[in-house]
Amino acid sequence: MDYTVTSLDEIAPKVGAARAAFATGSTKPIAWRRATLERIRTLLEERESPLLDALAADFGKPRFEAWTTELGFTVSDINHTLAHLGSWMRPRKVGTPLAFQPGSSYVVAEPVGVVCVIAPWNYPVQLLLLPMVAAIAAGNAVVAKPSELAPHTAAELVSLIEAINDPAITAVQGGVAETTELLAQRFDHIIYTGNSRVARIVMRAAAENLTPVTLELGGKSPAIVSRHANVDVAARRIAWGKFINAGQTCIAPDYVLVEQPVHDQFVAALGTHIAEFYGADPQTSPDFTRIVNDPHFHRLEKLLDSGTVAVGGITDADTRYISPTVLTGVKGDDPVMGEEIFGPILPVIAVASIDEAIAFVNERSADGDKPLALYTFSESDRENDQVIAEATSGGACVNGTLLHISNPNLPFGGVGESGMGAYHGKFGFDAFSHRRGVHTRSTKLDPSMMYPPYTAKKQTLVRKGMTMSDPRDVAARLRGALRRD
Ligand code: NAD
Repeated sequence: MDYTVTSLDEIAPKVGAARAAFATGSTKPIAWRRATLERIRTLLEERESPLLDALAADFGKPRFEAWTTELGFTVSDINHTLAHLGSWMRPRKVGTPLAFQPGSSYVVAEPVGVVCVIAPWNYPVQLLLLPMVAAIAAGNAVVAKPSELAPHTAAELVSLIEAINDPAITAVQGGVAETTELLAQRFDHIIYTGNSRVARIVMRAAAENLTPVTLELGGKSPAIVSRHANVDVAARRIAWGKFINAGQTCIAPDYVLVEQPVHDQFVAALGTHIAEFYGADPQTSPDFTRIVNDPHFHRLEKLLDSGTVAVGGITDADTRYISPTVLTGVKGDDPVMGEEIFGPILPVIAVASIDEAIAFVNERSADGDKPLALYTFSESDRENDQVIAEATSGGACVNGTLLHISNPNLPFGGVGESGMGAYHGKFGFDAFSHRRGVHTRSTKLDPSMMYPPYTAKKQTLVRKGMTMSDPRDVAARLRGALRRD
């Protein structure tokens, strides 16, 4: 399928058409939301083969990984959304203070309008479609922009979006120029997934129209391995999380801090599991992805000079292959520790204690560089709890890697440099909804207390009424006092 860039002149009319479609109210009914999500699911099923071919053509994504982490992941999110949509949309009744009785109150989720989705290349299907699923579930129109760096997949995605055949859902194809033009339009929400440099461009453009943003970014996500860990399982789970998609995963463990007594055992286990996954020569494995383009390949090649190669370290520029690599003896100020690696290179750093590991992570977080994910491996709950409590991150997984993003009941998002806002499941529905508070009054009683003229008597009554404790507060305090006795 051909990759055709959208002409700059077409972009404003496309956004205008989506806005006009939203204005008709067609996207609000649950029937439209359901039907559109079901249509996307059907299209994904019908187009599975060309999509998997496109992912392989772009950067050699194995079909198994492409299905599980892209298509299957999206279908599972659609199914979860369809199962819960009715309950998410239902207005929530809330209490009304005594002073405002007789009356009732509720909170209702309203669509915000036109949502712009800008996606990156590394999981090009799910990172475009999952935000779309959430935006559609919330009743919005959508303008989607896939990444130009995975052009085969981008062409398939735009064709899929066109096949939805709804004026409220549209796509723009292209790179920097087209995205710049897109960002010059007014949106009601922008969700951007990618690097923090471009995130600043997106946020500046959004500020012009006071458009809220969700920024899904990256950073260096640490894994901490305790001397009390199941070292073999830790090595296997870290190797899996790191080398899937050749390390081109936003939440891949970027580096490992391992307690000195188990350092050698851990590094040896990494070597064993890498060989088990990809064979003695991973270059011949059908299950190992390639680097997306030459600039990323050459950037990664330079990082191999840090520390000592303990496993791998083999490269082939012609096929953009970098073998699964483990580096030891890496220092905190080595180049490989100076940027998000985003490739199949895993530095392992020995630490004297869990406290030292936490201090290492927190030193970076103090400058705002808070990780997107944090992994802690120990058989001691107390140790894992300490890591989670003392070192922050967007999300975390205990004794595992990556899987926290697969649970639709958990929010997925970053903090500080790793992003702002979150989505997945209900969190995505909420991200693209305006929560509107509605108070309903009865006309049966209309005491004159709050109306002018303001008399001393009215003031006394209003002061009493407004500062009166909520009866539930009083009851809770009474219960507390009784327990103490
Ligand atoms: P990318 O190069 O594909 O860029 C992402 C999007 O930004 C593309 O659609 C691109 O067209 C657009 N873009 C690029 N330059 C632009 C500019 N100057 N102005 C406007 N738009 C522009 O992807 P990338 O940024 O290399 O993605 C990798 C980064 O994304 C890593 O840091 C990774 O950790 C992060 N990431 C985060 C998540 C997450 O969910 N938090 C997921 C995947 C990747």
